[in-house]
Amino acid sequence: MPSDPQPIAGIWYPEQSNRFVRASLVAEGANLSVLAEDGALLTSGVVSNTTVTERVGNVLRRLTLANGSVFETPDNDAIDALVAVAKGGRAGWIHRAERFHPRLVMFAVLAILFIIGIYRFALPALVELAVAVTPPVVPEIMARGTLQTLDATTFDTTALSPDERSKLREGFERLKARSGLDSGRFRLEFRQGGLIGPNAFALPDGTVVITDELVKFADGDTELLLGVLAHEIGHVELEHSLRQFYRSVGAAGLIMLIGGDIGSGMEDILVQGGGLLALSYSRAQEADADRHSVRLMAKAGYDPEAIGRFFTLLESKLHDDSGTNILATHPGTPERRKAVHEYAQELQSAN
Ligand SMILES: [Zn+2]
Repeated sequence: MPSDPQPIAGIWYPEQSNRFVRASLVAEGANLSVLAEDGALLTSGVVSNTTVTERVGNVLRRLTLANGSVFETPDNDAIDALVAVAKGGRAGWIHRAERFHPRLVMFAVLAILFIIGIYRFALPALVELAVAVTPPVVPEIMARGTLQTLDATTFDTTALSPDERSKLREGFERLKARSGLDSGRFRLEFRQGGLIGPNAFALPDGTVVITDELVKFADGDTELLLGVLAHEIGHVELEHSLRQFYRSVGAAGLIMLIGGDIGSGMEDILVQGGGLLALSYSRAQEADADRHSVRLMAKAGYDPEAIGRFFTLLESKLHDDSGTNILATHPGTPERRKAVHEYAQELQSAN
């Protein structure tokens, strides 16, 4: 059996002692010798009676001999080689995980808390940072991709009459002129909704899409529809979809994104807009957009509670036909109507 007499440098701790001496370990077959610097034999043992700790990063390897003395070395590669050689023979090493250690447990707990911390506190902060550093071209690319995808898969050209469209366009012009953003950013698009049915939604670049089905749903109440459009303008102004998108990307993705390292996966999501389609707003975001609608409608000289009429209509249609899927995407409708009413009252008494 080929033996490797190459000594491994390390430190030797005699049994039950904190004192240590520089030493080297020499393995010949299954026999181990620990030698002092002057070559004197400190102790010896056999592989089968010696335990060795597993390799963990650059942590020192610890060999405990049968007599209780310990040899420690930073030379992980040499120990691995020794272990590999011994594995071939009959005399196996005894592997032992590092002894149960309170400090190790504490470290694990801290690591878990750190990860929870990232999601609780650092993720919202990273999202805000990402929104702040996002160049305007990104929401444009995302929006274009999303609309193209929907046009290819779901939407059809609008079948609304020119009169229906121009009434909504006029109102939309008044609303966007009073928004907090450059009014040139906003654009109203009409589509037949197909699978998505009666709906309106905003893309992060300021494109607002309203479906024919929603216009029909409102039964001639243009102001109600404007209340919904004002709500969508609110989502754009408050950058909700960008926030939700970054939230879905997660902390690791955001760090890459902010660092400028946009992976190909991220690029796909940005360009195809698939990421946007799967998103839904949080309840808090919906409530913010509702209040935004109340304010914007009041500024434009419309009924501030028009969005509330939309919720009333949703509730009555729910009674007629519980199969309407528009409610599934708009949870908590009665609560939202009540909140809209209270906020409108509050604004009125403040003026
Ligand atoms: Zn909304």
